[in-house]
Order: sequence, then structure tokens, then C-alpha cells
Amino acid sequence: MNFEIRLTEALARLRQGGNLRMLPQVPDSVINLSSNDYLGLLTDEALLDAFYAQLPRASRRLSAASSRLLTGNVPEAIAFEDALCQAYGSEAALVFDSGYHANTGILPALVGKKSLVLADKLCHASMIDGIRASGCTFYRYRHNDLGHARTLLERYASIYDEVFIMTESVFSMDGDRVDIPQLVALKRAFPNVVLYLDEAHGVGVFGETGLGCAHATGLHQEIDLLVGTLGKAWSSMGAYLICSQVVRNTLINRMRPFIFTTALPPINLAWSRFVLEALPSLQARRERLLVMGERLAETIRQQGTVCVSASQIVPYVIGENIKAMALAKRFREAGFYVLPIRPPTVPEGTARLRFSLTATVPDVAFERLLELVQA
Ligand code: PMP
Repeated sequence: MNFEIRLTEALARLRQGGNLRMLPQVPDSVINLSSNDYLGLLTDEALLDAFYAQLPRASRRLSAASSRLLTGNVPEAIAFEDALCQAYGSEAALVFDSGYHANTGILPALVGKKSLVLADKLCHASMIDGIRASGCTFYRYRHNDLGHARTLLERYASIYDEVFIMTESVFSMDGDRVDIPQLVALKRAFPNVVLYLDEAHGVGVFGETGLGCAHATGLHQEIDLLVGTLGKAWSSMGAYLICSQVVRNTLINRMRPFIFTTALPPINLAWSRFVLEALPSLQARRERLLVMGERLAETIRQQGTVCVSASQIVPYVIGENIKAMALAKRFREAGFYVLPIRPPTVPEGTARLRFSLTATVPDVAFERLLELVQA
């Protein structure tokens, strides 16, 4: 069979199941409730003006033109990593081109012959891809059930050199949060545990200085591998790891998505550092964002729907794909851009609208949104 016929038939099957994905175009006129621009920095003209006004000419470059290991180790990358170390009080930090690069590359570079991975059932696809690429034995514990992780540790920890526990701090699809003290307690109980925490949706949003959930609890020094992403609250591009010096040196030597790709552009790294410095001053936005998250989740619960959100990400679980798509269309007609999330991104039968709030949504629009949920 001609391969394009085979592909066309596969796409037709996706369409039939309500699972066909197409690239949407977001009209300017709508309130965007599907972006990860949590603090509204993407369109913050005053902040952008302040950034460009202080930007040195050399930092305006739009490409690093090679890998960090060749000639792409630009001063902006070093300055940003230094600033991250200062902010977190960490030994080392390393920047990557994206969260996807980070999560697919870090683990394979660090595992040994006798490493085990325990991952939350709902870990992001990029972490799953990293686990697969590592070739490690892995088990997935029940979502956000660290008791289950502990049971698995009791069974397996003693027969492996080390056990990587992988979780997100704010889960990307449900908006619920991991219990950081409980996570750290696992490490204290099992000395060969290595904690890997993906704070993609936590950094910028949680903590009085916006450094994420682990930093907010004061336990960030206990997290061996803390990943933050820059394409969300930061409104930039890239990702970073807060880690020890020996981990950083290992990644520079072994991590394929770090070694074999062009480094981030100087302008982008300069912006990330600028935002890092601005984060402490954005506490009012964080507070507003989280109050909106709570109110929206509560309104959804009042409709009799379970909503586990404890953050700016608020799912409205509908169930069937077709129904979720129809409801998304109704919201869009009312001026709110919210996307339906369907399997395989979420488990079968849990298609949902996923509200991903931005701190700068106007009050009037937010109240209207709550009314629509109640309608
Ligand atoms: N981790 C999590 C939890 C995510 O939600 C995402 C992106 N949706 C990523 C990693 C990937 O980050 P990036 O978009 O920077 O590749």
C-alpha cells in the first residue's frame, strides 16, 4: 500500500474517534484561557520596554550559532546560570533549549546499570520519553499517591543502586500539586532516592519570589534535580536544572539533547535573566492568579464535578470527547478561548476543558467566565 494511503486512513480513524488534532489559530479578540503565560508577561509592554532599554547591543543577537560545547557558550547563558544559582542558593544550574529537551535528556545521562525509576502515573510525556530513552526498569505509582511510591521503595530500594522518583510539582493536566514535604520524607527514609521534580507549571507562580513549589516550602535544597521551564510563566523559551556541580558536569559530557543542539539565542537568555530578576516584584499577580484558580475550581465543584485543582490550571472534566469539544465551542462563541484536552494526552473517558489562567484576565471577563460555567 502507498504509505500516504495508510496515513490518510489512520487520520480518518482519528477523526472518527473525535481525536484528530489540527493546529488552531487563536483570534486576537478572545480572552485566551489556554496559554501558559500565567503572569501575563508575554504582552506586558512596560516590562518589554524596560528590557529592551537596558539590553546591550551584543545581547540582541538572535542565535548562538552553535552548541554550548562549541562556540555557543555565550556570556548571557553563563550570566543566567549564575543568577539562577544565586536565586536558589544552589551549587550549579544548567540551561537547556526547552523543557522537552531537559526531560528527555537529563535522566538518560545520569542513570547507571542498576538504577530504578518510580514515576507518577500522570507525569508529562517528555518525562516518559526520558524514562524510555534511559532504558531503566520503571514503575509508575498511582497519581499523586506517595504512599504507593513508598510501598514500591520498600520492595525495591535495597536491590538497586539508586531510585529516581519523578514527579511534577503542579500537574499539567489536573492542576493538583505534589506534597513536597512528603516527597522529601521519602528521600530521608531511603538514602538511595534521587528526587527529580518538574516545576514547569510551578516556577513563576508559587512562592513569594516565584521560584516554585519546592522553594516555597524551603525544601528546595533537598531536590536533587529541579527542572524549571521558561516557556510558561517566564514567557521566554528554554528550561533549567538546579543541581549539584557533579550532575552539571556529567550532563555537559553526556546529555545528548544538550550536546547536539544549537544553544538558546543570547536575546532569549538575557530576557530570561531579566524576568528572573523581576519575579519577586510580581507577587500581586501570583496572588490574584491563585485566587482566580480557587474560585474557578470551586465553581466547577458546585456543578457537581470533581475538580482536584490547587493552582492556576483548572480542569473541567466532561468525559466524552465530543461533549468536551461542543462545550469548548460554546465558550469560544462567548469570547473565551479554551481548548478541549482529549486522550491520549489524558486518560480515556476524561476529556476535559483545561482552563489555564493568566493573572491579567480582566475582572469583568473572569466574572463572566464563572457565570458561563454555572450556565
Ligand atoms: N514538563 C511539563 C510538566 C510540561 O507541561 C511541559 C510542556 N507542556 C514540558 C515539560 C515541556 O516544556 P517545553 O514546552 O519547554 O518543552
